[in-house]
Amino acid sequence: MRVFKFGGASVKDAAGIKNVYDVLQKVGYEDVLLVVSAMGKTTNALEEVIKNYFEKSEELNASVQEVKKYHNQILLDLFEDEKNEVFAGVNKLFSELEYFLAHNKSPNYNFVYDQIVSYGELISTTILSHFMNFMGIKTQWLDVRNFIKTNSNYRDAEVDWELTQKNIAKNVKKKMLNITQGFLGSDENNFTTTLGREGSDYTAGIFAYCLNAESVTIWKDVPGVMNADPRYFENASLLNHISYREAIEMAFYGATVIHPKTLQPLQKKEIPLYVKSFINPMLAGTCVSKGSDSEWQIPSFIVKRNQLLISLSSIDFSFIMEENISEIFALFHQFKLKVNLIQNSAISFSVCVEDKFGNFKDLNPILAKKFKVDFDENVTLYTIRHFNEKAAQTVEQNKTVLLKQVSRETMQIVTKEN
Ligand code: ADP
Ligand code: ASP
Ligand code: MG
Repeated sequence: MRVFKFGGASVKDAAGIKNVYDVLQKVGYEDVLLVVSAMGKTTNALEEVIKNYFEKSEELNASVQEVKKYHNQILLDLFEDEKNEVFAGVNKLFSELEYFLAHNKSPNYNFVYDQIVSYGELISTTILSHFMNFMGIKTQWLDVRNFIKTNSNYRDAEVDWELTQKNIAKNVKKKMLNITQGFLGSDENNFTTTLGREGSDYTAGIFAYCLNAESVTIWKDVPGVMNADPRYFENASLLNHISYREAIEMAFYGATVIHPKTLQPLQKKEIPLYVKSFINPMLAGTCVSKGSDSEWQIPSFIVKRNQLLISLSSIDFSFIMEENISEIFALFHQFKLKVNLIQNSAISFSVCVEDKFGNFKDLNPILAKKFKVDFDENVTLYTIRHFNEKAAQTVEQNKTVLLKQVSRETMQIVTKEN
């Protein structure tokens, strides 16, 4: 079996969905499992719904209507005839969502988040599955929550591999086109959970592992994995073949083209991962597999914007030792700051972190009781794999370098735009 993953960008409108059909015609769809994300920016739009649910109830209805309108337009573009049963299918999902919004009693933000945000994928797969049937491809729509079982760590749930493996082995039918949702799972009480933002690539990895799939292909709006994000680097070039290790490193440092959790299950069973263009599906793209990297000597650039560089030094010139460091890390964990780089000297300790939830303002006074705290907001973290002098110069040009760290294969530079 082959596992294909189509992300939000590939199904953002009716043309995108028709394109998925064209891709399947070209590359075949027998014995395939499609993992599909929410359409376009639907997950962001549902996050807005969640925010309104908790904070701005007067805007709740309007935000739900917006999500409805967007999908309805896609339905009209694809099917025209409103008697097609897909309209009722999608309406039923919206009714469920509205029922939840009206009746939920749980104050748990993360729980509520997962119950709401999951409709993006439930709706997109319903539409896609009906469209394939409409075009003459028979599909089996699978509710992924009956397959991927997780703990109840809402918004970042961990997979129960044993149960998941059992469910998948028993119930996924081979020899046909299966369609299921990325990003979602369910806990032991059958409440919906999610695997973390951008987690649909990971879903593809989980299914491939449990099915002993022949390969995984993630279809993207880029030709494959490149040596830099082509949105930011004009001369980015395609990497034809990279090893699991290189791909894991790149994803870890923030190359958003592959979700970092995707590779581990694939690597364990040596299942190749193809990253290909949904615009030019017949091009080879990138193959991630066992073996050496064909272009390993080419520097790769990974950019993380909007970082926070925090430097802590001891007030009395005492050393910053393990004890302090573990205390500092416990606080970062508690305040949900994601650490992307660490550097320490005898009396100071610097970290480049991502403050996704804006919690640093609350953490700062706590740190200031024990340390002298300096920080720079809005800095950029560049990671260069297989760096050379020229690559470093390209990054440093016209910028102030605040910190630099070099290891055998990787250079990281924290900069501030001049
Ligand atoms: P999906 O629609 O599957 O969610 P994403 O938008 O998450 O797809 O991933 C594709 C994007 O990843 C590209 O549009 C590109 O801007 C970005 N990207 C970041 N780093 C790289 C890289 N090294 N090579 C290719 N694309 C990259
Ligand atoms: N729809 C989810 C998100 O946008 C999962 C995914 O697309 O990978 O985060
Ligand atoms: Mg994505």
